[in-house]
Amino acid sequence: MVIEAIDVHVHIHDARARELRGPTAKANSEAMARYFGRESKAISVDEQAEQYRERNMMAVLMNGTDETISGVPAIPNDFVAEAVKAHPDVFLGFGIIDPWQGALARQEIRRCKDLGLHGLGEFNPARQHFYPNDTRFYPLWEECQELGMPVLFHSGYAAAGSGQPGGRGVKLKYCQPIHLDDVAADFPDLKIISAHPSWPWTAESLAIARHKPNFFIDLSGWAPKYFPAEVVQQVNSLLQDKAMFGSDAPSLPLERWLRDFEQLDLKPEVRQKIMLDNAKKLFGLDI
Ligand SMILES: [Zn+2]
Repeated sequence: MVIEAIDVHVHIHDARARELRGPTAKANSEAMARYFGRESKAISVDEQAEQYRERNMMAVLMNGTDETISGVPAIPNDFVAEAVKAHPDVFLGFGIIDPWQGALARQEIRRCKDLGLHGLGEFNPARQHFYPNDTRFYPLWEECQELGMPVLFHSGYAAAGSGQPGGRGVKLKYCQPIHLDDVAADFPDLKIISAHPSWPWTAESLAIARHKPNFFIDLSGWAPKYFPAEVVQQVNSLLQDKAMFGSDAPSLPLERWLRDFEQLDLKPEVRQKIMLDNAKKLFGLDI
């Protein structure tokens, strides 16, 4: 199979994995689905693999955790590793850690490497209540840098908690991209992926991508039809080597993202970079 694209932002909604997280996680996921105007349907990792295989695409599988804040356990990293082992032709996997777990979290990063995972994320500072540039967390980024594992952070507005009382405790300030600029400066060999168009701080994220060679953006979580104009303009020119295809599937269906992306006014050589080349380079893949 000749790989034509890599979706760098795909979430696990496998029934068995969701079961492991308990009833609160289920309620949260239903609230999120309502926000996106969809049903919260489980999809097995096998089925997800097939969706990518039939399109000659690869996908980076991930999930999130805010266990210290919410008490809801994460999908175990072993589950992600198993999914990747079952479908190595289409999946790469990211592990997740709870940054508040200190030395244990650092240990878990090493274990993720041993499990064959390719990076860490999705960190969601708004849900995890931490500033990525708080130096208490620097040992974690140091570990990721040493192991050559990219880190992916949710940035900007959060669908999680949207419209719920108190936004369910989710605090948007932590997801302002400028905090990641410090991390990019202090860990120049750490590859940082800032997920989503970062609204309402879109320009900030684009500026950091332009300034820091180790800072990348993924275009996930928003239907491309609604991308702020500055995103389209910048990725079509100055940032053509820094932006990557990401869907955020299944929250945002893959099909919808692809259909909308087709309609954007982008140069053909830029499309090729966004869909495949930039991610291939970032992960050092020989495919
Ligand atoms: Zn996200």
